[in-house]
Amino acid sequence: MVKSVNEHSLIDVYLQTQIKEVHGTVGNFTCKLADAQGKETEVSYGTAIIANGGESYSPEEYLYGEDPNILLSLDLDQEIMQNTDRLRAVSTAVFIQCVGSREPERPYCSKVCCTHSIHSALTLKELNPDMNIYILYRDIRTYGEREDIYREARLKGIRFIRYEMDDKPRVEKKDGRLRVTVKDQVIKMHVEIDTDILTLASAVIPRDDNHVFSELFKVAMTQDGFFMEAHAKLRPVDFACAGMFVCGLAHGPKAIDEAISQ
Ligand code: SF4
Repeated sequence: MVKSVNEHSLIDVYLQTQIKEVHGTVGNFTCKLADAQGKETEVSYGTAIIANGGESYSPEEYLYGEDPNILLSLDLDQEIMQNTDRLRAVSTAVFIQCVGSREPERPYCSKVCCTHSIHSALTLKELNPDMNIYILYRDIRTYGEREDIYREARLKGIRFIRYEMDDKPRVEKKDGRLRVTVKDQVIKMHVEIDTDILTLASAVIPRDDNHVFSELFKVAMTQDGFFMEAHAKLRPVDFACAGMFVCGLAHGPKAIDEAISQ
């Protein structure tokens, strides 16, 4: 797809480029671009779509960064794709959900992480059906048809343990291994799990440069730092100003199928 975009006669791709100025109205916009060497180019266009994506939250909690066996969901994807020796040796894997999401400073749900973790857990089960897998969650939000993989995970023996916001799991290193302690809300007792890897389902966060785009294109942002549509139901991909649209994670956390339909 990248190749076909790069080779398309009607598409110009500018990489390593900054937008310096934006002028005009719908159907007749111009913007000034500057490349890495400072060389400026002016581009005329009729409409603009802001689709600059989002980022993954880098946790300060759960010992992230202090042990190589503590991963983020995207790191685990890489391990799975490369089928690493470490992964093949894993006998127990733990996932902690809502890391950085649904907190006072980031009250929104990141929407993709429940599905992502369950999907990864099922892949680990395929690699090693005997692997013990625990998913520690606050709520499972596998909405729509994603509910099917939640059901499948339950059937395949992946264990789900619910924790409370005010009694989060604790992670410590014990005799060279990671130990996760969590209060199981069903039996009302703390459970200790010694694990080989711990995957943190970290929040989707807005990009730092969103405020730059917001000022350049005169478009609104939400309190969470994503871009705000004109009307959530009637104009869900338009900005309030004519000729400007938003798509994907720039607009807020969403799964790839939702971004594609936008
Ligand atoms: S999708 Fe699940 S893990 Fe992610 S923030 Fe929402 S409830 Fe938490």
